This record gives sequence, structure tokens and C-alpha cells, in this order.
Amino acid sequence: MNKLVYMDYHATTPVDREVLDAMMPYFSEKFGNAASRQHPFGWEADAAVEASRASVSRLIGANPKEIVFTGGATESNNLAIKGIAEALKGKGNRIITVQTEHKSVLDSCKRLQKYGLDIILLPVDDNGRISLDELESAINSSTILVSVMMANNEIGTIQQMDEIGKICRKKEVYFHTDATQAIGKIPIDVQTSYIDLLSLSSHKFYGPKGTGALYVRNSNPKVKLTLQMDGGGHERGMRSGTLNVPGIVGLGKACEVAGRVLPTEAKRVKSLRDKMYEEISKAIPGVYLNGDPVNRLPNNLNLCFSGVEDSVLMLSMKEIAISTGSACSTGDPEPSHVLKAMKAVPNRLGSSIRFGLGRYTTVEEVDYVIGRVIESVTKLRELSGVQHVK
Ligand code: PMP
Repeated sequence: MNKLVYMDYHATTPVDREVLDAMMPYFSEKFGNAASRQHPFGWEADAAVEASRASVSRLIGANPKEIVFTGGATESNNLAIKGIAEALKGKGNRIITVQTEHKSVLDSCKRLQKYGLDIILLPVDDNGRISLDELESAINSSTILVSVMMANNEIGTIQQMDEIGKICRKKEVYFHTDATQAIGKIPIDVQTSYIDLLSLSSHKFYGPKGTGALYVRNSNPKVKLTLQMDGGGHERGMRSGTLNVPGIVGLGKACEVAGRVLPTEAKRVKSLRDKMYEEISKAIPGVYLNGDPVNRLPNNLNLCFSGVEDSVLMLSMKEIAISTGSACSTGDPEPSHVLKAMKAVPNRLGSSIRFGLGRYTTVEEVDYVIGRVIESVTKLRELSGVQHVK
């Protein structure tokens, strides 16, 4: 294979052709400002934004009114967490989240902690899941928010959404989830999971970068959120700033396509992923799966190759785009905070690689990667003389 192979679909995805075609007119002839209420240019842009809002809401079982467009999941997470903390300042000061969350959740909470909020970071088990009992006992009378990601960006572990939602509803605490890696990969229903706030980012499922949304429940209960961006009062006062109409059109189209192809795509990608795991672990010893073997995103494969340094392994297969974890912690030399949180794997730190498969991954690419991984791991172990250790 004399080309690059992309297996980093958790970091980002290419824009789907159908999505790009839908976006194109909104850069040029349909360039209106969606907030221009006085003329057809504005009306046309506004109609496109509203159609996208409906499309996003359909994919997660929400109402169009409950969708707030943002610049991506980082912004959505900041808005949800800081917005709730500010709105409910008089009611309580405890926020419960998880050690394995994305930095945009953890660092939003860290900032609030500086202002006196009581932040609880729940631990996870060997598979990366939280304990429902621990969650329930951490909720006290001053708890205002529980934030648990739907699926982890490094290990793909899917949390128990329905059960967490039920606990939060029973305790009358808002439930926020970062669904950035889950959307378009697994079915989502904010009603059956009792989700009050949900963050998503378009570029993780074949939409454009720099566009996302926050779902904010509008009834039973109506979520009150304090805006974090002062300005013209766009998005029902929750997110000021001229709307990125082409990006929003792309996000809407990405949701429409995801809704249409999700079941077949998830099945196809999962079978490729399973083939990779089976063939690699059959051919070489000392290969361990990081994450939950069952409750896992269909496109995620995070493997530890014991005795092999991850950066060296990646260098030996430079034509394959893979990663050691999150692309979002730019230049962070620290070992993965996710793997660290899963107590069972201290010796897997520094030896683990994340493979992310997706819509355009082919059988040929998977076969090529399997062959290269087996070859490289075997060679590196021979060279270093270090055999795999448990
Ligand atoms: N949450 C998760 C779980 C993610 O994987 C990412 C992106 N890696 C984000 C939030 C942030 O998304 P964005 O960079 O698009 O704002």
C-alpha cells in the first residue's frame, strides 16, 4: 500500500461529500446573516439554520427549540458547566464528574473549583465505567450538576446513560453528558436517558470543524443556564455571536446522514474493528485491550502492546495515522489520564495505541494495518530484547 492510512477517526473525520455539497452555497450566493430579519438574504440563512436545528434535534430525540449552536464541544462543555454553576449559584455548589472526562470538562470544573465550587471526580473501574452506587452517594443536597461523558475518546467505553439519568432525575439534579464521541456512532435518546444537557461537535461525525451544539432541556425540567458570551443575544440568549451558517448547515446534514446510515455503518465498522483485534492478538502475545470489552464504541480499538514503547511503535509505522490518545491535549507529554484512572493498567501506560476506524475505512486498509502492527511489534521486541511482560 503506497498511501497513508487514516485510523484516527476519534481525532477528527473528513467532511462527507453530501455534507460539503449542502454547505457550499452558504459560503457564496446564500451568504446572509441569519439574524437579518428585514430581508430575504437573512430569511434564507435563518431558514437553513432552523432546518439544521430540526435535524440535530431529531438525531437525539429532542425538540428543535432545545438546540443551541456553538463553536464545538469544547464550547458546549464550558457553556453547560459554567452556565449551570452560575445560574444555580444560590442553590448549591457541588458538581460531580469523572476522572476520565475530556479536558474541556475537567478544566472547566478546575476553574470553578478556584472560585469555591466543590468538585467531585468519580473514579472508574478497570473497564473505565463509573459505579452507580458511588455516583448516588456522592449526590448531596448542594449538588447542582452531574456531568458524565457518554463515550470516552481514548478507550471508547460507554457509560450507563439511562441509569445515570434515572439517578439524577430521582435526586433532582441536572444531568449533562459530553456525547462528542458517541453521536453518529450509537443511538442517543435524551428522553430515555433523562439527559438535561448534551454536548456535541460536528467534525467528529463527518461534519465541518468549529461547529457544534449544546442540547438544553426546555421542559420537565426547564434547564436554566447563564450565558457565557455577552453580546447580541443570539440562540435564545444562550450564545451570542453571528451564526456560522455554512457550518451549521453542515452539522444538520451530518446529523441527517448519521441518522440514515448509523445501524449499517456501526455494524460494518465494528466487524472490521473486531477482525483487527482478533488477528493481531492471535498473531502476537502480550496484546491487551484497554476499555470495556462489551460497552464500547464500535469504531474504537485501544490496545496495549506490552514491552513496546508507543511512540517508537508509531514511528515505525509512520504511514499509519494512529494516536496514543487524545489529540486535544496538544503537546501534553503526560501519560494518558484515562489509562491512569483505570487502576488495573499501570504498566500499560506508554505502551498503548488508539486505533479509530470510520466511514471510509476499507478491508484492505485493515488487513494492511494488521500486517504492519504484527511486523513492527515483533521487530521492536526482537531489537530491544525485551519480551512482553504482563
Ligand atoms: N469531548 C470529547 C470527548 C472529545 O473527544 C473532544 C474532541 N477530541 C471534545 C470534547 C472537544 O471537541 P472540539 O475540539 O470539537 O471542541
